[in-house]
Amino acid sequence: MYDVIVIGAGVIGGCVARELARYKAKVLVLDKENDVGNVTSMANSAIVHSGYDPKPGTNKAKYNVLGNKMYDLLTKELDVEFKRIGSLTCATNEEELEIIKSFVSRANDNGVEVKILNQEETRKIEPFVSDSVVGSLYAPSAGIINPFELCVGLFENALDNGVELLLNEEVVSIERLTNRFVVRTKDKEFETRVVVNAAGLYSDKIAKMVGIDYFNITPRKGEYFVLDHFEKPFVSHVIFPVPSEKGKGILVTPTTHNNYLLGPSSEFVEDKSDLSTDKPTLDNVRVNASKLVKNIPFNYIIRQFSGLRATGSTHDFIIDERDGFITLGGIESPGLASAPAIGKEAVRLVNSVLHLETNPYFNPFRRKVIRLKKMSIEERNDLIKQDPSFGHIVCRCEGVSEGEVVDCIRRNAGARTIKGVKKRCRPGFGKCQGGFCEPLIMEILARELNLDPLNVRYDSVKSYILQSETKEGDK
Ligand SMILES: Cc1cc2nc3c(=O)[nH]c(=O)nc-3n(C[C@H](O)[C@H](O)[C@H](O)COP(=O)(O)OP(=O)(O)OC[C@H]3O[C@@H](n4cnc5c(N)ncnc54)[C@H](O)[C@@H]3O)c2cc1C
Repeated sequence: MYDVIVIGAGVIGGCVARELARYKAKVLVLDKENDVGNVTSMANSAIVHSGYDPKPGTNKAKYNVLGNKMYDLLTKELDVEFKRIGSLTCATNEEELEIIKSFVSRANDNGVEVKILNQEETRKIEPFVSDSVVGSLYAPSAGIINPFELCVGLFENALDNGVELLLNEEVVSIERLTNRFVVRTKDKEFETRVVVNAAGLYSDKIAKMVGIDYFNITPRKGEYFVLDHFEKPFVSHVIFPVPSEKGKGILVTPTTHNNYLLGPSSEFVEDKSDLSTDKPTLDNVRVNASKLVKNIPFNYIIRQFSGLRATGSTHDFIIDERDGFITLGGIESPGLASAPAIGKEAVRLVNSVLHLETNPYFNPFRRKVIRLKKMSIEERNDLIKQDPSFGHIVCRCEGVSEGEVVDCIRRNAGARTIKGVKKRCRPGFGKCQGGFCEPLIMEILARELNLDPLNVRYDSVKSYILQSETKEGDK
């Protein structure tokens, strides 16, 4: 019997699982995907919002502001890249200037530091804003994070501290018995005293399994362009337009790896798995990004992608506990920024039922990640002397070595697929998008996991890459 089963291994499930590891409890996380952080938590703007704009008094405002403050310690403990670069919400006319001025009192109510900058002050700190920008709202506490690394770090640390994780296990039914639940997947069943529903887009479906039907989730798609990194200086803050009822709008931001993101769009869709992108929407992304930032080097676009926001019918984060069933639903933006605080609150709710004892052996630190690209030549040389695999570069675009790939496979919650390696240490994220490195990563995965190369997957269990040997006679 488990004490807690968490359904969903996104950033919310990860924050809950790691927080639960601080207690003496038998905890299991179930996810239908073949890796952690494989749905909305990996396809977003990667911004730790300051929290100035959610309506005061809402869960979004409360958890965004609390979560933002937790990021310095969390990312230090988990060795995840995070930079507080600040955001500028830019007004392009006098009417918008009045709107951003009205946000100051909202920010004050939420307890977030902001400052109105005039045109000259805005340009001074961000020379790349377009000439039509007449002023901005500066929020210094906004940051950027690597969301893939965050999810991996949360689960690795939770597993290091005793939490269990089962992937490729889609929860299909939950039966409520006296003081416990039976959680069923296609061919397994598990008993638990408490269930935490962190199933993102499907949190409404999971809630309905125990008769909770007061909310629905509608997917709202956001499409993006990714720009390659380049040597010349470019934007150094998160640049937002003035928000509207459709959301925070199309932004321009650097990423923690010196790429740039343009997007997201905002359109409701019917299908919770529709991650397609289309030209008219992306053309609109270009037009709107150009209203904020001048001379965007569109020739550096290397990829487009989309993510689906889990927009809830209550229009706020749903965080509640009913007889041992905890719902974390409708966690759309700013869900990433809020995740550490939502994780803490979920565990407070678990404790209102289970009254768990603290775990004296909890270690908050994840083993440091080796990032060759960030090391000095001397540091690299020392490392290569100890382990020559760090001298074998497998991804030229992102400068990733074989040693880093092997390390990300051998950790708890380690990579099992090409995409899993890409998310953890970046081969395939560069200009060639995996054209050069993918066969090498496949070889390393096959060797490390003791698999026939024919059984190495790109991502899901069905995503085989190779079909058959072409030169069987040459063996
Ligand atoms: C376009 C876009 C931009 C965004 N930008 C930002 C931003 O800049 N800053 C910010 O703070 N937030 C942002 N967000 C929101 C943020 O990404 C989400 O709030 C956050 O990722 C939600 O995490 P989650 O764990 O709830 O969901 P997910 O990451 O979707 O995780 C849910 C998990 O549940 C699993 N699951 C579902 N059903 C089942 C089942 N039946 N059985 C087992 N497992 C199941 C799924 O496989 C999945 O892994 C953005 C979102 C989008 C789409």
